Amino acid sequence: MDINKLLRKNIQTLKPYSSARDEYTGEAMVFLDANENPFNQPYNRYPDPLQKVLKEKISVLKNFPPENIFLGNGSDEPIDLLIRAFCEPGIDNIVTISPTYGMYQVAAEISGVELRKVSLTTEYKLDYAAVLSATDVNTKLIFICSPNNPTGNSLEKTAMIELIKKFQGLVIVDEAYIDFAPGKSLLPEIENYPNLVILQTFSKAWGMAGIRLGMAFSSAKIIDVLNKIKYPYNLNILTQQKALELLAKKETVEKWVKLLIAEREKMAGLLKDFPFVIKVYPSDANFLLIKMFDAKGIYDYLVEKGIIVRDRSKVHLCENSLRITIGSSKENGTLLSALKNLI
Ligand SMILES: *Cc1c(COP(=O)(O)O)cnc(C)c1O
Repeated sequence: MDINKLLRKNIQTLKPYSSARDEYTGEAMVFLDANENPFNQPYNRYPDPLQKVLKEKISVLKNFPPENIFLGNGSDEPIDLLIRAFCEPGIDNIVTISPTYGMYQVAAEISGVELRKVSLTTEYKLDYAAVLSATDVNTKLIFICSPNNPTGNSLEKTAMIELIKKFQGLVIVDEAYIDFAPGKSLLPEIENYPNLVILQTFSKAWGMAGIRLGMAFSSAKIIDVLNKIKYPYNLNILTQQKALELLAKKETVEKWVKLLIAEREKMAGLLKDFPFVIKVYPSDANFLLIKMFDAKGIYDYLVEKGIIVRDRSKVHLCENSLRITIGSSKENGTLLSALKNLI
């Protein structure tokens, strides 16, 4: 596959912005090249455009080469950049599954790119043949999500691989919840499939949604494209520093994940016995999708009690379903007590 041919013409020929920090990357005694203010150190300096120190640490964590990693302002940034790099507005299209994460559609619409939705099966499984048949010569990207939001299940690896093998464009697999899943990441498959892009984030298992740090992993050619079109200083100094601090405390994060998985299983077991609950779907993520009689009524009741969950009833295949994030043991207890008062 020729990645260059998939790219929009204007991106193929784009000459990227060259910052002072791109043109001179070494150490020096005096920096007078970027019109920075000499006072208010260290915040007076522009951040490293390619985040070398942070990427090196993430490379060790993921056991994956730094030149195959892109860091962005949340995963939302690579989602948007991939669409802008590969999809010609009004001409090209994207295929995704339904239901899934809403940002693929919003980013496509902002860019004026058609988005085609292919339903999961009623068991929330990936029908890769149906996804393939929704593509045509102008389909540049396929977005899938595993574990999927809002259904919580992981998609079958064999089905994902078939899609990646057979599709002539890029397949983006969003693994935002992979740390909560028993199954393995598709990261090792990137060396086999240059059209595979994997998204992960520091927003969920790492507990850093507030600092906005997302990752894209792919073949070096695709990573180079993302680096070429991103804002030169897309990750600020504070974000990079905070991420480095938490990366040094990896064991804490592993503890959180274990705890949240145990809470998830406990909650799933208790919630399924409520008389108004029809089904608690199995989850590989940090939330549960629950089908109920009168989901809207229960949602409204919980809001009144100061407990906010997500009503997904209007979402395809999620009729009468609430999506409930797994909180601390205390928060989950508050939810359970409120629900008990309903029976
Ligand atoms: C929460 C979530 C993200 C995270 O996005 P960030 O921009 O990194 O915070 C990405 N994908 C899915 C499917 C999510 O649910």
